[in-house]
Amino acid sequence: MSTYTESVEKLIGKLTRLPGIGRRSAERIVGYLLNNASLDEVKSLSEAITKTKENVRFCRICNNLSEADMCRVCRDMRRDKSVVCVVENPSDVTAIEKSGNFSGVYHVLMGSIAPLEGRGPGDLKIDGLLARVKQNNIKEVIIATDADTEGETTAIYLMKLIKPLGVKLTRIGVGLPLGSNLEYADAGTLSKALEARREI
Ligand code: ZN
Repeated sequence: MSTYTESVEKLIGKLTRLPGIGRRSAERIVGYLLNNASLDEVKSLSEAITKTKENVRFCRICNNLSEADMCRVCRDMRRDKSVVCVVENPSDVTAIEKSGNFSGVYHVLMGSIAPLEGRGPGDLKIDGLLARVKQNNIKEVIIATDADTEGETTAIYLMKLIKPLGVKLTRIGVGLPLGSNLEYADAGTLSKALEARREI
């Protein structure tokens, strides 16, 4: 039987539904909010969460996070629209942008193929990517999914679909530690991995 109050228990319950937050972490967060944060800080936190949810949507072209119809990268006239870098999540776009070595555009799949977690190709934004490759003047598609099993599975799946469309298809990975998540790689490593991409 929990000795927490009803409100505390309810908040812990809601927090543990978030990715990466177990009960222990949820208890620590609630403890922090009650003991260390002012009411103003708590209010501005909950307002920031609500505002983000209300204002942020996904780019019509590439699914990257945006507060307009198209994201900043897709709107940028200086970006090379003929090179598309395919990544799993919006956080990967941020990581590659930080590397400063990519001037093309992106396509965010919104995940990876992970049969063990019940995620198949149908759960990913693949149709939009194929439509882009077929309709636009795309010269190269760089597959920059993670260097883990799910990322590799996704890369192979995409390769089979995209290869017949006749565009240059490359895969980054050289220099990326096996099993690693793109978003955690440092800017230098990512920059090198992009440069050393190989045709598949
Ligand atoms: Zn976009």
